[in-house]
Amino acid sequence: MIKLNRPVCPHPDALARGNYKHPANKEALKAANSDKCMYCESKISQISFAEIEHFKPKDNDKFPHLEFVWENLGYSCQKCNNQKSNKFHNDTPYIDPYHDEPANYFYAAGTWLFVKNGCERADLSIRDIGLNRPELLEKRLEKITEIQKAITACYRTGNVSLRDFALAELRREAETKKEYSFFVKALISAHAV
Ligand SMILES: [Zn+2]
Repeated sequence: MIKLNRPVCPHPDALARGNYKHPANKEALKAANSDKCMYCESKISQISFAEIEHFKPKDNDKFPHLEFVWENLGYSCQKCNNQKSNKFHNDTPYIDPYHDEPANYFYAAGTWLFVKNGCERADLSIRDIGLNRPELLEKRLEKITEIQKAITACYRTGNVSLRDFALAELRREAETKKEYSFFVKALISAHAV
């Protein structure tokens, strides 16, 4: 999970009319997230259909008044959205990437997402949204294996300027728009690249 910036709602009228799935609004959230799920950082169009996620569940017995509130909407993959379902803990809300800085609550070690300082909100986020589910571990492994191989290759070259160029290219893989950047960034920092 990484920090996301909430875009300005391009079509507030749609929300006022009771439509939270307006294409222009969905597109704005997609662009702001670089097409990545707000929770798991998977590029959504590569794995499934994108969904408009209600951070606080819109169910009648939960937060129905927040169903059409822009600040409660996010862009997520079906898997995270389904797994989170209508769960929510008032006293220990999930980490909200549009509001919280996830790096203050989580750290990445290899393919796993861990909780910093025993934070219960982060722990519940991992468990309830399934942020270490097998298929995510597999996809992260593919990504970090590829990066690890590239780092090793960089250090094996005798040509320093070529190596520096390749390392600079690798650092771009940790940019926020890239898939699983939270994990790639951790790997790259471990090598002091
Ligand atoms: Zn997801």
